[in-house]
Parts: sequence; structure tokens; C-alpha cells
Amino acid sequence: MEKHARELNKRYFGGGLAWIQICYTTEQNAHTFGICNTTNRTIRVSDRLREMPKFVHDYVVVHELAHLKVPKHGPEFWKLVNRYPKTERARGYLMAVGMGD
Ligand SMILES: [Zn+2]
Repeated sequence: MEKHARELNKRYFGGGLAWIQICYTTEQNAHTFGICNTTNRTIRVSDRLREMPKFVHDYVVVHELAHLKVPKHGPEFWKLVNRYPKTERARGYLMAVGMGD
């Protein structure tokens, strides 16, 4: 997961993001795919993602990484996330399984 996040950081954010820890969690509400704590710079991703297609998993990591830069879901945030080309597809997938934002 750590290595995966570093690759996505390089590809979509020019390697400009820094975090303390990124890992899976089972301890979160079923409707949330991830949580980014911008205070201690830690990211938790639902372990349900392990069973989902790679493009969905990648999207979630990109989404949570983008929160390190822009904490709230606004136009600036989505502009950043949309650097990931399958954003719309992944959001549709997550919505269909009840984990949409
Ligand atoms: Zn978000």
C-alpha cells in the first residue's frame, strides 16, 4: 500500500505529497471508502477496496492523497482528483456499491 501510494503520488501529483502513514482499515463505517486525517497526515482506506477492481482502488488512493492538499470537496479538490483519468468511472462504481462520496 505504501509503495502503491508513492507511485500514484509520483504519477498524479509530481511526487509533491507527503504523509506519515497509509494503510487499510476494517474499522470504519461501511459507506466510507477512506479517511484522510490532515492533522497527523495519516490515511486509512477501507479493506473492502482489496476486492474491488484496480482502477477503483487507485482512484480511492488518489482521492485520499488529494485531501492532503485540499481537505474539502470543492472545485479545487475535484480538479486535482480528475488528473486520474478513471475518476468518473470509479465514482460510478463506488456509488453503485453504496460507497459514493
Ligand atoms: Zn473525500
